[in-house]
Amino acid sequence: MNELLAAYRAVSNNWAQIQGSKLCGCCSCVQLFPADEIVAWTGLDMHNVDDPKAVDNQTALCPRCGSEAVIGDKSGYPINVQFLSRMNEAWFQRTIIRKPTPKK
Ligand SMILES: [Zn+2]
Repeated sequence: MNELLAAYRAVSNNWAQIQGSKLCGCCSCVQLFPADEIVAWTGLDMHNVDDPKAVDNQTALCPRCGSEAVIGDKSGYPINVQFLSRMNEAWFQRTIIRKPTPKK
């Protein structure tokens, strides 16, 4: 499988992966930051906030740009500007699967 395709799965529902990571990067804004900078997650609402499975399935939001595009070093992928730029090109500029994020 294409590495970038495989790596994209690490960007969603990545609660456990991010918890185990030290360094994270964002494929949207191509910035690096420590995992403990991430404070915002999506995936929980008042109906599943006590469900451990739902907690595991949360998706990290980038602390810099707010995108659901964060990948951590625990994923096994290189967290550096080169790799994030390739992810950004593959996923965010050509928009293979994701809807484009509206620019404000
Ligand atoms: Zn970002």
